[in-house]
Amino acid sequence: MFTRYAMMGQVEVICGSMFSGKTEELIRRLRRARIARQRLQVFKPAVDDRYGKEHVTSHTQDRVEAIVVRSAEELLKKVDDRTEVVGIDEVQFFDAAIVDVIDKLANRGKRVIVAGLDQDYLGRPFEPMPQIMAIAEHVTKTLAVCVRCGAPANRSQRLVNGDGRVLVGATESYEPRCRRCFEPELARQLDLGMDVPHPASPSPPVAPDLMEPADGEPTP
Ligand code: ZN
Repeated sequence: MFTRYAMMGQVEVICGSMFSGKTEELIRRLRRARIARQRLQVFKPAVDDRYGKEHVTSHTQDRVEAIVVRSAEELLKKVDDRTEVVGIDEVQFFDAAIVDVIDKLANRGKRVIVAGLDQDYLGRPFEPMPQIMAIAEHVTKTLAVCVRCGAPANRSQRLVNGDGRVLVGATESYEPRCRRCFEPELARQLDLGMDVPHPASPSPPVAPDLMEPADGEPTP
């Protein structure tokens, strides 16, 4: 009975705004799995080349080796049968097929830990994150600190104009804000090319080590 339980897979989601410590939390869990001598593989989508192509790196420069893949299908092909733990960073950049892939891997007995943004720059749910959260056993929301008022922050305020839902590799173009201080209208105006004077908050971006502790974290 115990053996059966031990072999059962599960899905864990770590999600939140930018600067909320998602990747740090992912790396922490992967490190624990490694200490437990579990076989692990880590993946990230090819769109993210922030800190080099073969690592998942947090803002605090913690890092683990990662395999860069271009699609959910490629990820599935590259998972070794013997792998026990699968980590995926920036999961929101994958195509919708990633939901089935994650489900399949968990059904094969693997522990799948994914990290990603839950909202885009307008505060809208960032697909396919809602679908992954729905099939997950555990969901952890990480919170940053609002640069305007110091409250726990779950929104990513965009400060420059740009195309697409998130400017890849442009963390300096965002700051964490709480629900009250978040200004989606500002992001929309920037999108339309309107001249918005000094949108950034006067205080510098909050260091990631000031982030709120993650709660609801399942024990491996
Ligand atoms: Zn605030």
